[in-house]
This record gives sequence, C-alpha cells and structure tokens, in this order.
Amino acid sequence: IGGHPKPQEGPTKPSGVKRIIAIGSGKGGVGKSTVSSNLAVALARAGRKVGLLDADIYGPSQPRMMGVNKRPASPDGKRIIPLHAHGVTLMSIGFMVEEGKAVVWRGPMLMGALQQMMGQVEWGELDVLLVDLPPGTGDVQLTLCTKTELTGAIVVSTPQDVALIDARKAINMFGTLKTPVLGLIENMSLFVCPTCGSEHQIFGHGGVAREAEALGVPLLGTLPIDLETRLAGDSGTPVAAGEGAMADAYARLAQGLIK
Ligand code: ADP
Repeated sequence: IGGHPKPQEGPTKPSGVKRIIAIGSGKGGVGKSTVSSNLAVALARAGRKVGLLDADIYGPSQPRMMGVNKRPASPDGKRIIPLHAHGVTLMSIGFMVEEGKAVVWRGPMLMGALQQMMGQVEWGELDVLLVDLPPGTGDVQLTLCTKTELTGAIVVSTPQDVALIDARKAINMFGTLKTPVLGLIENMSLFVCPTCGSEHQIFGHGGVAREAEALGVPLLGTLPIDLETRLAGDSGTPVAAGEGAMADAYARLAQGLIK
C-alpha cells in the first residue's frame, strides 16, 4: 500500500553515446557554429565516432556549413535516421524547416523538437556528440543542461569586450546549471594579412585568455580570422576537412579534447 515513490527523472543521454559536449557562446556571430563543425570534423579525422546536433533553433547553420540538407528518413514515424557528412553523424533543426524560413515555434514546441533530436535520432555508437547551442542563455540551454547528461560545455568568444561580457554570462549560466565548463576558445583572435604578413588585432587579442585565467577554466585554443575558414564554411566543406594551417589548428584542438 502506498507503493514505491516514483523515481525522480534525472538527466538522460542516448544509450550509445559516451560523451555529450555543448558548444555555446554569449552572443551570435562569434563563430560558435564554425568551431562546432570544424571540431566535429577534426575529431572524426582523429578516428573518433562523432555526432553533431545543431540545436541553434533560430539560426541553424550546420546544413550549410556541413554541406547537407535534406529531410532525414523516419521509417516508423518515431525513430529519425540522422544524415552523414565529412565523417560526422549529423542532425539539425534546419533539416526540418525550409532554408530562409523563420522558425516561429512557441517554447514547448521548441523543447519538444530538441528532446526529439536528442532522444529519437538513431545516433548509434558515438565517442562524442557535440551540440551547437543557440547563442545566449535561454530556454534551449536550460532544457539541455537539465534534461541531458552533459560531460560539459565549451564557450566560444571573440576577444572583444562586448563578446566577453556575454561569454561570462554563458559561463555563469553553466555554473548555475552545474554543467562543467571544459574551457574557452578564442575565435577571430588575430588577422594576419595574406599579402604582407602584418598582424592586426581586429577584435583585440588575448581577452579570452585573460578571462579563462580569471575564471580558472582552461583556454582550449585561439583561432585567427581566416578567409579560408569563412569560405570553407559557406561552401559546405569545413576548413578542418582539408589541409593547411587551420586544419592543423583544429586537429590540435581536437587532440586537446580527447587526450
Ligand atoms: P555563430 O555560430 O557564433 O553565430 P558562425 O559560426 O555562424 O557564428 O560565424 C559567423 C560568421 O563568421 C560566418 O560567416 C563564419 O564563416 C565566419 N567565421 C567564423 N569564424 C571565423 C574565423 N575564424 N575567420 C573568419 N571567419 C569566421
């Protein structure tokens, strides 16, 4: 009589997935999606089984950046078969909406979509699933951090003060939600002129390193402003899939994460 108390529903993760790492930023446009796709590709090139979930509900960039965009199959209307690109298993909210159309869903629908992408997608066996979050500190982050068993989060920022102020908010949010911050990545930290080789600190330089030190979290890497990175992202083949300095930089970043 009285029965057993209902077990508390704790955070979950898809059964074959070893680690889930969220990639966030304080504000948009700092390169969070670019870093996510390149890191995923670099991890795949390092022999890891990698998934990438594009949870950037309001501006899903992964279909374009990874060069695939079609509606994933769902043989029984429940399970969703993810797509594959550049060695990465991929799911994006962008596969479900037409490119250029705004996602105008109410909160509960968004949360439902997020839960579906996490729980109903056949992720298979993965060493790591990267989640490209929307910028800022909203509902998606809250839902993900409380309902999903995250290994931790990475925060991407440019060295510019306005970006850093928002990055700090994102870091505080992860702290409040008890999601470990694995480290920060400084993106667009320097521009080296391809013709004369002179260096320009367009968004400042070193701000993220200082922030990481002040907060006691690791600086995982610094990435320059790089035309090739932008062109590669727009063309659907991330720069990390090719050869050269940026591919090497992402390979190092990936090594740092898996060591
Ligand atoms: P976010 O996900 O933070 O909104 P994106 O990854 O979409 O940012 O990047 C915004 C724009 O900046 C994109 O056009 C992208 O190609 C470009 N970009 C990102 N990182 C770099 C970089 N290191 N060098 C040059 N362009 C970059």
